[in-house]
Amino acid sequence: MQSCEVAIVGSGFAGSLLARVLTKLGYDVVLLERGTHPRFAIGESSTPLANLSLERLSVRYGLTDCYQLATHGRWLTHFPELRRGLKRGFTFYRHHPGQPFENCGLDSERLLVAASPDDAISDTHWMRADVDHHFVREAIAAGVDYRDQVELTSADFASDRVRISGSRNGAAFELNANFLIDASGPGGFLARQLSIPSGLTDTETRSGVVFSHFAGVRFMNDVVPGMPTGPYPDDRAAVHHVIDEGWMYSLRFDDGVTSAGFLLTPRGIASLGGGDAASMWRVLLERYPTIGNVFADATPLMPIAFRPLIQHRLTRVAGERWAVMPHAYAFVDALFSTGIAWSLRAVERLALAFESAARNRRVPDLEVLERYGAMLTAEADQIDLVVAGAYEAMAHFDLFAAQAMLYFTTVSFAEVSQRLAPEESVAWKGFLGTGDPVLGSLPRESLQRLRQITHQSGDAGTPADRRDFAEWIRQAVEPRHIAGLANPERRNLYPVDFDELVERHALLGMSREELIAALPALRGMSQLL
Ligand SMILES: Cc1cc2nc3c(=O)[nH]c(=O)nc-3n(C[C@H](O)[C@H](O)[C@H](O)COP(=O)(O)OP(=O)(O)OC[C@H]3O[C@@H](n4cnc5c(N)ncnc54)[C@H](O)[C@@H]3O)c2cc1C
Repeated sequence: MQSCEVAIVGSGFAGSLLARVLTKLGYDVVLLERGTHPRFAIGESSTPLANLSLERLSVRYGLTDCYQLATHGRWLTHFPELRRGLKRGFTFYRHHPGQPFENCGLDSERLLVAASPDDAISDTHWMRADVDHHFVREAIAAGVDYRDQVELTSADFASDRVRISGSRNGAAFELNANFLIDASGPGGFLARQLSIPSGLTDTETRSGVVFSHFAGVRFMNDVVPGMPTGPYPDDRAAVHHVIDEGWMYSLRFDDGVTSAGFLLTPRGIASLGGGDAASMWRVLLERYPTIGNVFADATPLMPIAFRPLIQHRLTRVAGERWAVMPHAYAFVDALFSTGIAWSLRAVERLALAFESAARNRRVPDLEVLERYGAMLTAEADQIDLVVAGAYEAMAHFDLFAAQAMLYFTTVSFAEVSQRLAPEESVAWKGFLGTGDPVLGSLPRESLQRLRQITHQSGDAGTPADRRDFAEWIRQAVEPRHIAGLANPERRNLYPVDFDELVERHALLGMSREELIAALPALRGMSQLL
């Protein structure tokens, strides 16, 4: 029977990247995939924190392509054949049933938050079919033993190894490994094998999704002309259309394809009156005329699909000879695009765990795995609270814009501190403010405050309620407030503001001069340029 040191189940970008890093570290790795590449995958909008992880992985393990894929400009130069989209930031509009989106100038229900100062160092949407395939090819080139079309049926754990069985191309397949990593996403391979109970009942967010890829989607700037100029063209972003039933994402790739989907609350789904995915899609476009106009000539490039519940959550993350990756452990919602960044952070953590084990036992110490597990648990809770708060805040755009500031302040503080003060331990820093003495507890408190306003039934509260909530957020994030966000004078149009950052130098523990000297790091420069 074949043996290896590490078996990884699932060859999304997370499994493939980790397999490649471990091979670089000298481990003998087998990567097992149920399907074949290229294949469609959902989850395409990347963020600055994801790019930072890619850059750190690149520098630490010599993965040049990861650095090149970490900005839109470098991606275009080095991998023009891998499809991607320019993502300059996060765009939000609030729509109301039966009414076109109203252009009220600076009073519009519109929020733009830039994530990068220009196109060259901008984030990207990943065409996952291409990107995941690329990472698999690179893993194979690095020496990973990749097997696709494997149907795994069991994983039996003994004190010194795990035995994985199944079939491949009609023949029995067996493998002994020292350690098993589950990167199978919602496929949940280890959840079934180890009968790990679901932890979903202890979580807050519930949504389903209706989605596809489309050709011929119009630009919001064309459909609603004359909106005040924002920090970047509205559509070159992760576009979010907030509606009564939830929200819609619309991610435009550079080749004209748009990935779009409605994330719908259970009440939102019920309001559609049943029917198949295509008819649910149609009902929503009819209900929201401006979105209907944007998609009037759009043609789906694959059948529109519906998943009634996208959340999943396990109650265990790791054990003596196994660990699950974030997307196999938990998923909350696409809102705020946390998935790619969180998965890459876990690749970094597990890589470090194996790095420190390389010279002795060659499997990570239980203590390290427990740390990994505790962090993922706390972070999944944190994502859930931030997103559940945002759903609650959808009752009124002012509440939503304020809650969004909690997310954006948290990630911009993390990004800037990671860029300006890179440390090896950064990978082990809590995601989304987890463990931060200022930010850590805010999502829970924010959700409670929002529920007091909305009574969990979509009440918009009074103008005073909304003003008080926005003011509470502004004051609560003040000690981490380095990006000029939550500023009413900005009228919900937020560019990347280096002047504000310099003013706020003390919050990063730096003098004005030190911060100015470090600014090039924020523009994505490094020794690899
Ligand atoms: C509607 C929706 C929208 C999203 N949007 C975003 C977004 O905009 N930005 C963002 O950052 N994240 C987003 N996400 C999250 C994102 O999809 C995940 O974070 C990301 O896909 C995780 O990648 P992965 O490599 O861990 O797993 P996956 O991409 O899920 O890959 C898992 C792989 O394992 C394979 N597999 C499954 N079971 C088995 C098995 N038994 N044996 C062998 N192989 C198996 C699968 O075939 C697949 O190739 C979204 C998710 C959803 C549901």
